Amino acid sequence: MGKRVHNFNAGPAALPLPVLEEIQEEMLDFKGSGMSILEVSHRSKWFDDVINEAVERTKKLLDLGDDFHVVFIQGGASLQFCMIPMNLALENKPVDFIDTGTWSTKAIKEAKIQGKDVRVIASSEDRNYSYIPNDFKVDDDAAYLHITSNNTIKGTQWAQFPESGDVPIICDMSSDIMSRRFDVRPFGLIYAGAQKNIGPSGTAMVIIRKDMLDRVPDNIPTMLKYSTFSEKNSMFNTPACMIVYTINLVLKWLEETIGGLEKMEEINREKAGMLYDFFDQSDFYQGTTEKDSRSLMNVTFRLPSEDLEKKFVAEALKEDLGGLKGHRSVGGCRASIYNATGIDGVKALVEFMVEFEKKEG
Ligand SMILES: *Cc1c(COP(=O)(O)O)cnc(C)c1O
Repeated sequence: MGKRVHNFNAGPAALPLPVLEEIQEEMLDFKGSGMSILEVSHRSKWFDDVINEAVERTKKLLDLGDDFHVVFIQGGASLQFCMIPMNLALENKPVDFIDTGTWSTKAIKEAKIQGKDVRVIASSEDRNYSYIPNDFKVDDDAAYLHITSNNTIKGTQWAQFPESGDVPIICDMSSDIMSRRFDVRPFGLIYAGAQKNIGPSGTAMVIIRKDMLDRVPDNIPTMLKYSTFSEKNSMFNTPACMIVYTINLVLKWLEETIGGLEKMEEINREKAGMLYDFFDQSDFYQGTTEKDSRSLMNVTFRLPSEDLEKKFVAEALKEDLGGLKGHRSVGGCRASIYNATGIDGVKALVEFMVEFEKKEG
């Protein structure tokens, strides 16, 4: 095997090594078919088993009742920004948003383009999106409330989801789905681009409560209707077979190797804790987010100067610590520590940080 780096990329991101090995192992002959998963028909039993397993594992891991559908929709999380208002807004009712930075801002823009009555009921723009707002009340006249569970670029995360009464929450969980336990009951729809925590890029996992489907209007294109995907088990057209297959293997790894969400959450808290505890005692490295809003998935930080940040990223790469540059829109550094990034990777990073500070601090 060639070398493997500790991968801190924000997305596409690290996949569990056992998953990559399993893909390699069954690439030429998938389950005795004499074909690879890239070549079998999506109407075959081989693929049918794959997609059904992926759905069942999702339901089990998230403790979803029978009142939820799990579907896979091409186009990533960004297509969901426009599908959600198109399918789920209601006549004469506002759609509410909480703006916690880049991705929620993009979701808001897509609802506005469609002429929806958009209300931003809270925002953390005033302090550069460094926190999760808590001084708002959800009005029960809203069609739904849209939030972003984890803010991949700004490095914040909802520690607890807001109280929304009877208003269904629509949540972008692209960068923290399957990283921790939560109660699904307040959610009308959850979506996640797969490439952060559950697989490769190009497809979103969408979890939709069945009653939400009553809202889907007739006069929108077939491929943009949630009901098309729920009625056809995500196979109205040819699905992204390789992606769904990989998601299924990642979920299997999460169940069988990690031992489920509770264990995964424990590991994720330990990883993030190592980094934040380290920043808290350091004058050299500064976290960029407020303490009660810190993300367990994307740890953003700054060094004393931009030159040092550049040097830090470059020297880290020489030590096989990859992907530490912050998003181009915010600068600084970022360590994305999704499910597949192990404790050993975070330990190696902290050790490198100590050495770098000794040299440059
Ligand atoms: C990455 C990301 C997206 C965009 O995902 P695409 O699949 O590239 O469209 C949306 N929301 C969040 C929170 C993300 O992290």
